[in-house]
Amino acid sequence: MRKTTFFALLLLSGTTIFAQNKDEQRLKEIYNASLTNSKCYAWLDYLSNDIGSRLSGSASAEKAVQYTRTEMEKLGFDKVYLQEVMVPKWVRGEKETAYILDGKVKVTVPICALGGSIATNKNGLTAEVVEVKSFDELTALGAAKVKGKIVFYNRPMDNAQIESFHAYSGAVDQRYAGAQKAAELGAVGTIVRSMNLRLDDFPHTGAQSYGDLPKSQYIPTAAISTNGAELLSKKLAANPSLKFFFKQSCQQFDDVLSYNVVGEIKGSETPNNIMVVGGHLDSWDLADGSHDDGAGVVQSMEVVNIFKNLGYKPKNTIRVVLFMNEENGLRGGKKYEELAQANNENHIFALESDSGGFSPRGFSLECNEANFNKITGFSKLFEPYLIHSFVEGHSGSDIGPLTSKNIVKAGLKPDSQRYFDYHHAANDKFDAVDKRELELGAATMASLMYLIDQNGILK
Ligand SMILES: [Zn+2]
Repeated sequence: MRKTTFFALLLLSGTTIFAQNKDEQRLKEIYNASLTNSKCYAWLDYLSNDIGSRLSGSASAEKAVQYTRTEMEKLGFDKVYLQEVMVPKWVRGEKETAYILDGKVKVTVPICALGGSIATNKNGLTAEVVEVKSFDELTALGAAKVKGKIVFYNRPMDNAQIESFHAYSGAVDQRYAGAQKAAELGAVGTIVRSMNLRLDDFPHTGAQSYGDLPKSQYIPTAAISTNGAELLSKKLAANPSLKFFFKQSCQQFDDVLSYNVVGEIKGSETPNNIMVVGGHLDSWDLADGSHDDGAGVVQSMEVVNIFKNLGYKPKNTIRVVLFMNEENGLRGGKKYEELAQANNENHIFALESDSGGFSPRGFSLECNEANFNKITGFSKLFEPYLIHSFVEGHSGSDIGPLTSKNIVKAGLKPDSQRYFDYHHAANDKFDAVDKRELELGAATMASLMYLIDQNGILK
């Protein structure tokens, strides 16, 4: 080897090692800052305990817009602004009631209307029940056995799945399209087993759609707790002609004006390259939405708080985006993309946190192979923080609509084992979120934002 080549190589590897040490050091500072000097837990406290549930179109969703805007203004962004977006407004109304009518015995069970459902008539609905575990089973029964009855969907989430989101995707068709499919065969209502791996007494709400059914064919639909589902199934086996009663008074109103909240720091070197970090500001109405997605909102804001605390000036433009209406319409995510296109913006990276505030484990990535390899190349830097899972997969619903060429999308992947204990249920409250776990998630997000900001993405 010629001497000059040797020195050039030495210099090159020296630079790489220097860069690596610098990144290692930076990540340490980021985690330190988050674990010792973060604001995210206090923000979540206010969002959960002072504002509460934030269903699109509600007064509390509007309060959350104003609160996060004010808090972001205090953080020293270059600008904080609102993006107008029309959102659906659905209101639950009075608390639902339900019971199993087995001969003369009434057994009360916990239910909640699914988002977007119509009401029963005001005296409630009573009918015989037909239990199915799939749409195939429903189709096989046919209209003759379904007409005039309540269809009870009772396929549990699969306990054998390690990643609980996979168990969720394997069961959620019953909640989302169950009413439409049952109505097509003449059913008068549907009851859906809650999307929950655990047996407990919380009914879990969530979005449902009547698809392209004419309005006159809409039927009321509700979720029943997993314990309630087990009980109903057992009683049905003993007495197939038992009846089920439920009553709900939910209502769909006209769309109302709401907002995405955006905070922006202009990039110091390539300001036309935009990096988004965000979560969704709306939540279901049964609780405070502390995990879904209060956690993602405050973690995204914390990313900038960490950068400010470290005096880090990003090369690219960074936007914290708090999306409105992920749960029952995704209007915020769609509006953000519509404006990005209209303004000819170039997004190079988007990171969403919408899988709960639990201990972070890694990232779920949507990008080309070259960028996937580049990001998994950072994995060694994350090892001290027990971040090890870099997988290809769904990043986030709100960043889903983004279409910039070459964009890399990522979702924070926290430990998912307990997420569906709380998801869309009345126990998704502040005390279900652990402060350190929340902060570790924010630090993990800030670390990836930093690494992408420094290293860019590949075309
Ligand atoms: Zn969510």
